[in-house]
Amino acid sequence: MFSRKEIKEIRNQFPILKKKIDSVNPIIYIDNAATTHKPIQVIEASEYFYSNINSNVHRGVHFLGRKATISIEDVRKKIQKFIVAKYPSEILFTKGTTESINLVASSIGNLIKNGDEIIISHAEHHSNIVPWQNICKNKKSILKIIPINKNGFIDIKIFKSLISKKTKIVSINHISNVLGIINPIKKIIDISHEYGAWVLIDGAQAAPNVCLNMQDLDTDFYVFSAHKMYGPTGIGILYGKKKILEKISPYQFGGEMIKNVSFTKTTYSTIPFKFEAGTPNIEGIFSWGKAINFIEKIGILNIQFYKKKLTEYALKRLNNISGITIYGNDSLEKLSIISFNIKNIHFFDLGSILDRLGIAVRTGHLCAQPLMNFFNVLGMIRVSFAIYNTFDEIDYLFESILKAKKILKF
Ligand SMILES: *Cc1c(COP(=O)(O)O)cnc(C)c1O
Repeated sequence: MFSRKEIKEIRNQFPILKKKIDSVNPIIYIDNAATTHKPIQVIEASEYFYSNINSNVHRGVHFLGRKATISIEDVRKKIQKFIVAKYPSEILFTKGTTESINLVASSIGNLIKNGDEIIISHAEHHSNIVPWQNICKNKKSILKIIPINKNGFIDIKIFKSLISKKTKIVSINHISNVLGIINPIKKIIDISHEYGAWVLIDGAQAAPNVCLNMQDLDTDFYVFSAHKMYGPTGIGILYGKKKILEKISPYQFGGEMIKNVSFTKTTYSTIPFKFEAGTPNIEGIFSWGKAINFIEKIGILNIQFYKKKLTEYALKRLNNISGITIYGNDSLEKLSIISFNIKNIHFFDLGSILDRLGIAVRTGHLCAQPLMNFFNVLGMIRVSFAIYNTFDEIDYLFESILKAKKILKF
């Protein structure tokens, strides 16, 4: 467990946390499931890259070109180690989670036939719903939804009754961006494989929170974004098993991804380059490497432990507020994310008052409208933590909600 002093030292690495809103209130940032702030090492990496390395990659024979290529291939290897993948070539750079899911949907979409089935859960982010819906529409295939119970848990028994030999892919989140619930993905992966279906895990909320091991998980695809784990925006990965990546077709076409081009025939490069058409976000990849260093220096297990404590403490305090509904209300399975509403208060009104008091929370449908429908609400208030959040901030949140209730007279 970190001492106050240690957390203060971590906070000191984030310039934005030293800013004041209206030069009065400190920034209480608990909207980390939307994006986290960046430590100084990541911010400085961007300037360092353009001042010392900038060049295109995998092309020129010149000094800077080599340097740039080595610097991003080093990050590929760093991420391979971070998620314990077997080969660096299983790590494909994309713009982020959304593009990674679109890449898989589009590439395996070519293999999907009329009457095939795709399974997702009721608690997915829109970016793990809409790409599959689109494939199903184009291929006349069937989208099946694993239901959740009122506590937000997936029922494995019902999942078993939904899956069949016609299921081509099961795509599900590792940690829900609304409920903070950790899904039983290992069970889902193993069951899916019994039926010959591939599995994609949306790890956007898990990568900053839990220790990942692709070889133990045995998932076919795993996706996440840098910007939710202290890295820059516009960069993320798709992990895919080598055998599968070699088999499926490219997603985009152009430079970088080819071996030979003529007007009659083009052959594609090997993985990962087959899937990386065009100039990548070289600076973003380079800076992401510094964010991974930041996480590894603290230790992902230490981060998980600390965030678990923050979450437990916040649940305890929030549960004392009269009229509160916390969605997916099982504290044991929640990590880092809590969504709630307060009786007779519109989420937007509460969010606005919290904003006036210097607290940044997320309000609205949280990119999960089907889940909002399930709980019969239009939106929620979400708090989500990062390693720089403190127990004092949670106390301040609690007091501010009470204050807001008074202002709104409930
Ligand atoms: C944020 C998020 C996404 C989308 O990530 P982008 O970085 O916006 O592409 C998808 N799934 C979950 C669970 C998320 O939290």
